[in-house]
Amino acid sequence: MDESLIKSRFHDIDENYKLIMHNIAESAIKAGRSPADIRLMVVTKTVESAYINHAIELGIDLIGENRVQEFLGKRDELKLDGVEKHLIGHLQTNKVRQIVGNVDMIDSVDSVKVASEIGKQSIKNGIITDVLVEINIGAEESKFGIDPAELLENIHKMSEIDGIGIKGLMAIPPICDNEEKNRKFFMNMYRLFLDIRAKKLDNVSMNILSMGMSDDYTAAVLEGATMVRVGSALFGRRVY
Ligand SMILES: *Cc1c(COP(=O)(O)O)cnc(C)c1O
Repeated sequence: MDESLIKSRFHDIDENYKLIMHNIAESAIKAGRSPADIRLMVVTKTVESAYINHAIELGIDLIGENRVQEFLGKRDELKLDGVEKHLIGHLQTNKVRQIVGNVDMIDSVDSVKVASEIGKQSIKNGIITDVLVEINIGAEESKFGIDPAELLENIHKMSEIDGIGIKGLMAIPPICDNEEKNRKFFMNMYRLFLDIRAKKLDNVSMNILSMGMSDDYTAAVLEGATMVRVGSALFGRRVY
């Protein structure tokens, strides 16, 4: 690829990174929170390794990939020392075996069935896999995730599965045309997060609330996100 094009994209990433960190800090302070309590996850799907490595050089220490195959295919090109890796896309039961042990967390656990399989494969590998439970906070037909009304029942069942450690919740709210509606979904997520935390279930610690993407991460921080997942605001528009 053209050297000057790569340089100019590196430069864009530098500027975008500064802006994102600034926005996170500003929203945190606005909400009376410490900026240090919010972690930036960089979403790397479709992004070439050179740009991901550039982001890592800037100080990114947490990346999220959607697809098992894509992650396994490019990880050897990545400078992942000291970088935490999460799977954030829908995981089919038959792919669990390939990903367990290769990421630090699976953020997209959307059924008891997949949680059981992760537990089973983790035990086989002699490890415990940390997971987040994905909530379909807008109860949308098209989306994966557990219906909020069924969360408690599901999380009870998941808490009994050996080989996994439940660390929090993750959500992708519906696309909203106004910020107020958007914030409502984040607010509801925060409420669920606190409700579950208050139950003090065995094997369930509610430390991570992962919500907010490029278009709405500031709103998510205002409503209590502890982790935001940003892709295109850092790397530019994705080319599939
Ligand atoms: C792609 C993706 C993101 C990041 O999306 P952007 O809008 O590019 O920031 C975050 N979370 C999940 C689960 C994704 O699939």
